[in-house]
Amino acid sequence: MRIGLTGGIGSGKSTVLAMLRDLGAATIDADAISRATTASGGAAIPPIAKHFGADFITADGALDRDRMRVHVYAHPAARRELEAIIHPLVGAESERQVQAALAAGRRTIVFDVPLLVESGRWRQQVDRVVVVDCSPVTQVARVRERSGLDAAQVEAIIAAQAPRGLRLQAADVVIHNDGIGLDALRAQVESIARTFGL
Ligand code: ADP
Repeated sequence: MRIGLTGGIGSGKSTVLAMLRDLGAATIDADAISRATTASGGAAIPPIAKHFGADFITADGALDRDRMRVHVYAHPAARRELEAIIHPLVGAESERQVQAALAAGRRTIVFDVPLLVESGRWRQQVDRVVVVDCSPVTQVARVRERSGLDAAQVEAIIAAQAPRGLRLQAADVVIHNDGIGLDALRAQVESIARTFGL
């Protein structure tokens, strides 16, 4: 079974992911795969250089993120062209990791996808969407505690992510992580994990 795990910043997604891993799930980090394709030596570098020009590649062979950010901001079509290069490579690498996990005997694969609801394309690739949910007040408190950002900065990050209601609508399963401790969270995760064959 393929599970897509998501949640807003500070929801407890990383904590739940670690619990699922402890219960035997194989986990795949979509962001890390995406970053690796555009890092030095990444698979997306040659096609990006060919399509956009060598100016978009840094001296050490990585995507020049600042330059590309400015470029796609001014040219919306360029963003789609960049995504058309990166997405299939991310898809191929995740599939490679899935096959390796299956070959190692794992039957439950959890995709950690922070922007699952925002991106749209992940929905078809998983059997279930699991959303870790809590109130924005709790999100702000948790992120402030761990990061030293102030409330306004955390609220700006939350505002840039999908709204809570939209994320809940996309969920097949919701993990409620508000006003409870880690033991109660683990109990919820264990009971859900059993329905995933863990
Ligand atoms: P996310 O990955 O969604 O940004 P994390 O899993 O990193 O969030 O959680 C944010 C912080 O809140 C972490 O320090 C985590 O230990 C803490 N946390 C999350 N859920 C709980 C909980 N139910 N009880 C206590 N601390 C929690």
